[in-house]
This record gives sequence, C-alpha cells and structure tokens, in this order.
Amino acid sequence: YQAKQARRGHQIYSGDSDDTGPMRLRVLQELHTALDQGQLTMHYQPKLDLSTGEVHHVEALVRWAHPERGLLYPDFFLGLAEDAGMMRRLNQVVLTEALDQAVLWRQSDHPLTIAVNLSASSLVDAELPHEIASMLAVRGLPPEVLEIEVTEEFLMADRDRTRHILARLRDLGIRIAVDDFGTGYSSLAYLRELPVDDLKLDRSFVFPMAEDPRAAALVFSTIELAHSLGLTMIAEGVEDEISLKALTDNGCDQAQGYFISRPLAAPALDAWLAARSLEPQQSST
Ligand code: C2E
Ligand code: MG
Ligand code: MG
Ligand code: MG
Repeated sequence: YQAKQARRGHQIYSGDSDDTGPMRLRVLQELHTALDQGQLTMHYQPKLDLSTGEVHHVEALVRWAHPERGLLYPDFFLGLAEDAGMMRRLNQVVLTEALDQAVLWRQSDHPLTIAVNLSASSLVDAELPHEIASMLAVRGLPPEVLEIEVTEEFLMADRDRTRHILARLRDLGIRIAVDDFGTGYSSLAYLRELPVDDLKLDRSFVFPMAEDPRAAALVFSTIELAHSLGLTMIAEGVEDEISLKALTDNGCDQAQGYFISRPLAAPALDAWLAARSLEPQQSST
C-alpha cells in the first residue's frame, strides 16, 4: 500500500520542508503547461456488474502524458495541483474529457456511465453543481451518465458544506459514491444522513480477503451494511478470482480491480469490451 501512503503524504510535494524547492516549482510550471497544452488524459476502469457479468459503468482516472517523464499517475501530481489551487482547472479538464467520451459511448453499441473523482476543495465550490449541469446540458447528456466519487475522508472533513453541495448534485440526478469507504472513520449516523447512492469499499479490505478470513468477514458485513442503507456496494481492488467469487456469492453489486481490468485509454477499453462480447456470456455466479 505504498501508493496509498504516498497519496496521503502527497509525495514530496506537500507539507514537507522542500515545499518551495526547485523540483516542486519546476513540476508546477510543467503542470500549468500540461493544462494549457492538453497533456492530461483519462483512463477508464470498468466496474463489473456481479449479478449479470455485464459492464455498464466505468471510473475515469486522470493521467498526465508528460512529454519527457512519461505517463504520470495522480499520486505524483494531484497533491501539487491541490496545494497550488489548480484543482478547479483540473476538474474542468477531467469533466470535459469524461463527458465528451460519454457522448461517444452513448452513440456506440455499449453506452457506459462514467464516475469522476472530485477532491474536497472542489466540493466547497458552490458554482460546481451549476457548472456540471450546464456541461451536461450542452452535450445533451442526461444526469444519469455521470457519477461523482468523493473519498470518505473528504466527506468527513467539512461535513455541512460538502453535504450541501452533494445534495444539490444529487438533486440534479447525478449519482454520488463514497470512495475508499472504511478508511475515513465515518460514524454510522453520518452515513445514514449522507446524500449518496454507492459505497466503494477501499481496496485495503478487498485485497487481503482471499487469504484473511477476518478481512473477508469485514467485507461481507459491509455489503450487508450498504444494502441495509439502500446503497449499492462496489468492491475496489479485486485482484484475484477467489475474491471475485466470494464477492459475487455474498451479494456484492459491482467489482472493480486489476483482475477484471486495469484502467485503460478509451480505445483500449472499447477493444476490451468488444473482445468480451465475443466470449460466451459468463455470468460470474
Ligand atoms: P481511487 O478513486 O480510489 O481510484 C482507484 C485507484 O486504485 C486507481 O489508482 C486505480 O488504478 C487503482 N486500482 C484499481 N484496481 C486496482 C487493483 O486491483 N489493485 C490495485 N493495487 N490498485 C487498483 P490511480 O488511477 O493511481 O488513482 C489514484 C487516486 O487518485 C484515485 O483513487 C483518486 O482518489 C485520485 N484520482 C484519480 N483521478 C482523479 C481525478 O480525475 N480527479 C481527482 N480529484 N482525483 C483523481
Ligand atoms: Mg475513485
Ligand atoms: Mg477508491
Ligand atoms: Mg483511493
């Protein structure tokens, strides 16, 4: 779980003594260039519907196609973007790319809904619901094609404001997911009040479940918790067949992880979906 730790600490770019170091400044300049020149690009990871074995939903994950450093992952640059106040622009780029792609998928033979991650700083922006509504409207997209994922940690940080903005997004008809559930210490009472549709159980619980019966027990009771609250349960970080089967057998609704597919650029995802549709439809029961 190095990646997770790195994310918490925002790599070397935040909070540390070298906050104003030359490396940080250089990457910051490069990030401005990246936004101006369209170097940010989205990969999409499918969510498998466990009751049917079908894929109707994907999560959009941002990447930076850096001209010299290669393909960079969000752990490398999101903390910096956040600290530098660039998240508003980054969100605009991410939402634009994801919604343009949603238009293409709607016209294809396999329409997909897209979940986009938003950070805490985005969710205190009172303009956001209105902006998203008009981005949908100009593309003729119904709100159901979009889902917003917010980490449990962020949801807990600024409860009243985030809840208000989430409620407005949800009133528009956009789905809301609690991301990385299980890592943010939310109380059950708070969970009950949140305007959300989906619970995404953090991969630190899902990853060990094939080997650790206590991890599996936690996963299964979270499925029940989600269902008793009327929420859809999504397991992230599914890396093996045993876990996928256990999740299916225990009524988990959707699964996402490397065992199903890594995040892929849209053309590669289209090819993956096309190859799957040729296989005999294996419902994962
Ligand atoms: P997340 O939303 O929890 O996304 C899931 C992360 O787990 C992704 O990493 C994904 O590639 C990875 N993953 C998926 N399946 C597996 C698996 O089976 N095993 C393992 N070990 N990992 C798996 P990624 O793409 O590096 O994204 C990291 C985080 O960065 C995301 O966590 C999300 O919080 C944030 N993020 C990504 N894209 C965006 C964005 O466009 N905007 C914002 N604000 N945050 C983003
Ligand atoms: Mg997510
Ligand atoms: Mg997650
Ligand atoms: Mg995460």
